[in-house]
Amino acid sequence: MKIGIIRCMQTEDFCPGTRDFQVIRNREEAFEGIKEDIEIIGFINCGGCPGKKSVLRARQLVQKGADTIVFASCIQKGNPIGYPCPFAHKMKSLIQADLGENIKIIDYTHN
Ligand code: SF4
Repeated sequence: MKIGIIRCMQTEDFCPGTRDFQVIRNREEAFEGIKEDIEIIGFINCGGCPGKKSVLRARQLVQKGADTIVFASCIQKGNPIGYPCPFAHKMKSLIQADLGENIKIIDYTHN
């Protein structure tokens, strides 16, 4: 499994993504039960509100080899400050439409 992670640009100042890497390494939360190797192709922010650049960034991750796009929990769950992205669902649908159904999308990394 080759993943490209997209995070919230507004949250970067609050979080270096430590827990994201931990749950991948330990196969916890969204990665529980995954037996295959997980290669991290890239870890990039959405490009800022309203998230339109996330399409280009997801496209780049796929061009570099990602078969799965993962939204870090800052986007849909609002971690760590309890402020979910108001554009999250639109971003997901735009990315899915752009990349096609062969690319899997995981909605969040952890609770
Ligand atoms: S579009 Fe959403 S994910 Fe991106 S910076 Fe704005 S609030 Fe964060």
